[in-house]
Amino acid sequence: MRIDILTLFPEMCETVLSESIIGRAREKGLVEINCTNIRDFTTDKHNRVDDAPYGGGMGMVMQTQPIYDCYENLCKTLGKKPKLIYMSPQGQVLTQSKVKELAKEENIAILCGHYEGIDERVIEEIVDEEISVGDYVLTGGELPALILADSVSRMLPGVLANEEAFSEESHFSSLLEYPQYTRPPEWNGKKVPDVLLSGHHGNIDKWRRQQSLKRTYERRPDMLENAQLDKNDKKFLESLNCDFKK
Ligand code: SAM
Repeated sequence: MRIDILTLFPEMCETVLSESIIGRAREKGLVEINCTNIRDFTTDKHNRVDDAPYGGGMGMVMQTQPIYDCYENLCKTLGKKPKLIYMSPQGQVLTQSKVKELAKEENIAILCGHYEGIDERVIEEIVDEEISVGDYVLTGGELPALILADSVSRMLPGVLANEEAFSEESHFSSLLEYPQYTRPPEWNGKKVPDVLLSGHHGNIDKWRRQQSLKRTYERRPDMLENAQLDKNDKKFLESLNCDFKK
């Protein structure tokens, strides 16, 4: 899969994407991520990419021309139009199911706004979808783009050790993950639950499933609506007085 990030701050994105799991995945060629500077495409002799908003008001608005030309150049390089996602607080809030859906694409391009945002006309012209990382406002789309690139990349084959690494994680199947522990077995008077030291895999799996259900019920009961629950899960939830509708 190839991901292109169109931004005024490519170094900011490169720094993050060169580290750790995603950095290694890029080195191994499991995912290709390119960060392109929108400013390189401006035709303004002073290298400007923004201007004051029509109608007055605070801040600056990113102009149509550099963004459109940057996108056109990408289409030419790829030989086709990638799915273009604009990171925006006005978009649909990102979920794990959207991440899974995007991970099936061959190419995605991510457009980062800055300042007061982007001239609406170029959004109408080239953007396929707007995605938000939550109901709050950041100074720019770079952090949201990194969140999207990271969450999609880790779904790709080979990026994580095996599929279990993410299929048991929070949100993958509409449940939160069970609590995790590592050495030492006792810290600050707190012990690791005995079952995890027992070596009995059946009991460990059962305990983890129940902890996962309990956490989800306590912290995000709304998620249980979409979770796949068998009769043992339902019985366990009933024992917690959970009044789930299934
Ligand atoms: N004036 C815009 C509004 O009220 O909707 C907000 C502009 S924001 C200060 C600048 C840029 O940051 C946006 O164009 C977008 O790319 C990015 N951004 C800010 N918050 C975001 C969020 N929650 N999710 C995704 N992108 C966000």
